Amino acid sequence: MERLLRYLNPVSHFGERRYSFLFPLIVMLLTSVVLEFYAFNIAHNSHAVDLYAIFLYIALIIYFSFHDGIVGGIVSVIITIGYYFYIIYSRQYSGQEFTSALVTTFILTILYSFLAGVIGWLRQTIDRLIEEEMDEKIRLQSIVQQLPVGVIISDRHGKVMQANKQIELILGVKIHPGAKVGKETFVEAEQNGKVLQPSQSPLAQTLNSGKPIVGQEFTIHRKDGKDTHIQVNTSVIRNKDGKIIAAASIVNDITQKKEMEDRKDDFVNMASHELKTPITSLKLYIDILLSRIKKTGDEKTMKTLTSIKYQTERLQELVRDLLDVSRLQKGKLAFNREKFRIDLLAEECVNELQGSSKQTIIFSGKSPLLVYADKFRMYQVITNLLTNAIKYSPDAERIEVKTTRQDSKAVVSVKDWGIGIAKKQQKKIFERLYQVTDPNEKTFPGLGMGLYISQEIIKRHKGSLWVDSEKDKGSVFSLSLPLHKKGSS
Ligand code: ADP
Repeated sequence: MERLLRYLNPVSHFGERRYSFLFPLIVMLLTSVVLEFYAFNIAHNSHAVDLYAIFLYIALIIYFSFHDGIVGGIVSVIITIGYYFYIIYSRQYSGQEFTSALVTTFILTILYSFLAGVIGWLRQTIDRLIEEEMDEKIRLQSIVQQLPVGVIISDRHGKVMQANKQIELILGVKIHPGAKVGKETFVEAEQNGKVLQPSQSPLAQTLNSGKPIVGQEFTIHRKDGKDTHIQVNTSVIRNKDGKIIAAASIVNDITQKKEMEDRKDDFVNMASHELKTPITSLKLYIDILLSRIKKTGDEKTMKTLTSIKYQTERLQELVRDLLDVSRLQKGKLAFNREKFRIDLLAEECVNELQGSSKQTIIFSGKSPLLVYADKFRMYQVITNLLTNAIKYSPDAERIEVKTTRQDSKAVVSVKDWGIGIAKKQQKKIFERLYQVTDPNEKTFPGLGMGLYISQEIIKRHKGSLWVDSEKDKGSVFSLSLPLHKKGSS
């Protein structure tokens, strides 16, 4: 019964493009037979149905044109007109009556054909458009399903419209269409050691703020006990008027990459630990040898030993940097904080490096700037900025180091007139192992670790490190640290 009703309902199978010829033919013929039967056997008046037939057939033509497209319309028009001719013939019209019946039938034929044509065409056009849209939808769905990355697409209210197999494999949960983003799709996760709340899930965040998330990494704790590292990109999708209509999240499983990185970091950590001890002994032996040679007055050997000592010190710094990077990666860089004057420390660094620099280093700083920080690490940061200034301004005559007070912050800046840094590289130089490479530039030794370590150290002291620079003009590297407040530890 339900199927019959569904079949009879002309709008229930939109987009199916199956048009019946038989159904309108049978119904129209049956209607004509029933009308004839009624006129002759019930009403006993051959004209009893004439007027009703006109309205009834208009309704049937509209119905079949809409139900079965142009085919349905044409079939019902043909039967209708056929039936009208049969009436003219069987009622034996003559004279004026016959002529006007013929004219009426002729006008109605044109009218019905026009009606059937327009409605049938409308129906077929609607079906075609729906089919095209469905095809597009299916195509998109199968593309999303076959992508090698995890994808969730939600509507603007945060209801899942589509999620592919890959995302279910990565997260280890089934995601049904209609599930609420954040709540029903949420898997226990953390980012940089912080546990995420369901409302902080990347897609939920993007839906709330409208802002994309690019390349953020998370660790998820799956229900089956497996921890997986993922990288997520999310974005809202807007319509032509800029209104948010959906949001999408693309999730990559980076567990293997992460494990490889961990292994690499472990290796660097182990290797630098192993290197540290022999280098320290080596330096000690060189110092002993140097003091012995000094007594003999052998200048040539002294010079050779001094340069071996210098190279060993470089090696020692390199190993220290490698260890620092690996400690930072693992979050294991510890600080011994104390109160000290950073202006005096900066002056000390200047005095220390002045001897090995061919540029004149000018220090200026009048006010005492008390900070609460790790003195050794601050020494390391300022020295790094200064050695960079010396290294990257080989043709300059001077370098300036300035300490100033800005609001509640102590600022140390190192200015050089060297090779400078192009705008687009200024952010990148603080990344791990980044070095500016310019084929036209002469190469400078280094591994690109110094600024990364310095920035991480400063960040962990609630300060900031930044650069103002212009290519070929020079650079100013500045660090700021909160001043120590009286009364706090
Ligand atoms: P390294 O100097 O060992 O290469 P750093 O992390 O200290 O590593 O610096 C990263 C990069 O930033 C350098 O390779 C260099 O290209 C650029 N840089 C740093 N300081 C300066 C400076 N004072 N002038 C120009 N370029 C600089």
